[in-house]
Amino acid sequence: MVTDKEAEVICDKIMKKQNELKEELKMVLDGNHEFIDAMFEKYIITVDDIRNRKKREKVCDDERCKGIKKNGENCSRRKLTGKDYCGTHEKGNGVETTEIEATVQDGIVKYIDPVSGQPIPVDQVLRSMS
Ligand SMILES: [Zn+2]
Repeated sequence: MVTDKEAEVICDKIMKKQNELKEELKMVLDGNHEFIDAMFEKYIITVDDIRNRKKREKVCDDERCKGIKKNGENCSRRKLTGKDYCGTHEKGNGVETTEIEATVQDGIVKYIDPVSGQPIPVDQVLRSMS
């Protein structure tokens, strides 16, 4: 976590470097200033960007899933209530699976989020596939 003040300082430093780089590129690409300005506009960083990126929910050890991730690290997700694993590891008995499961209930196909164990709206599933 960073404070507002720290985020401002970081933001300020990035902006300064960006402007330096921008001026440098304008010298290299002589006469194409509009292109460079437009390009840099896409990468403007705000204080909120920095704060949000640092914001992450901390899960304490005894609330943590006992599963092991594909890269061999301990899982950092919260375990399901009354279970030893998070939704992903619970399904695979401690082994990570990332596929969304499709089940048929009352003739309707339902998609289940492997992490939360909650149903996912169909339009959201379709969007994630495209
Ligand atoms: Zn897990």
